[in-house]
This record gives sequence, C-alpha cells and structure tokens, in this order.
Amino acid sequence: MTQRDDNSIENKLTSIKYNCSKNTHLRVNQEMCRNCQKRPCCYICPAKVYSWDDTQSKLNVEYENCLECGACKVVCPFKSIDWEYPNASCGVILKNS
Ligand code: SF4
Ligand code: SF4
Repeated sequence: MTQRDDNSIENKLTSIKYNCSKNTHLRVNQEMCRNCQKRPCCYICPAKVYSWDDTQSKLNVEYENCLECGACKVVCPFKSIDWEYPNASCGVILKNS
C-alpha cells in the first residue's frame, strides 16, 4: 500500500485558495524566452505556472496558479518577467495550515 505524503508539494498546494483575476499579473517577453536556453522558470516554479510550447514556440504562463513567491523573477536570466502582485483581493487569499 502506498502511504500519502502529507508534506508533499502537491498536497500543500491543495490547501491554498485563490481568487483568480481576469488579467494576468505575469507578463513575459516572448522574444527573450525564445532565445533562453535553459528556461529556469519552468523548473523553479512550485506551481508549474510556466511551460514551454515547442509547437507554437512560446512560453505558456498559467498565471492563475501563481503562489506569489517571486522565485521566477529571481532566476530569469534576462529579466523577461514583468512581475507584479495580482489586483487587490485577487490571487492567493487563504493558506490553511
Ligand atoms: S527564464 Fe525568463 S527568459 Fe527564460 S523562458 Fe523563463 S521567463 Fe523567459
Ligand atoms: S511567483 Fe512563484 S508561484 Fe508565481 S509564477 Fe513565479 S515561481 Fe511560480
């Protein structure tokens, strides 16, 4: 039998509630992203907000899942991410312990 890991990131993410904004608070420069070799944003984000779309040659940004930790902004080597907090009363609204 497989035991549930209560400390897994997947489990922690289920305890977070969001009030999604209609507008993104994460804008990227797609030209810079096309030329980015390692795309660290796709690996550092705990909520898997970023993913590279090879077919369309663009970075997908699922801003609705953002935990507002700021890690992507720090690791982006080209300062491609225009990062701001979601609009008032939007974004992460409750974190259960
Ligand atoms: S790390 Fe920065 S430049 Fe590279 S893909 Fe991510 S957002 Fe784009
Ligand atoms: S701020 Fe954190 S959770 Fe939000 S997109 Fe960046 S790395 Fe992901």
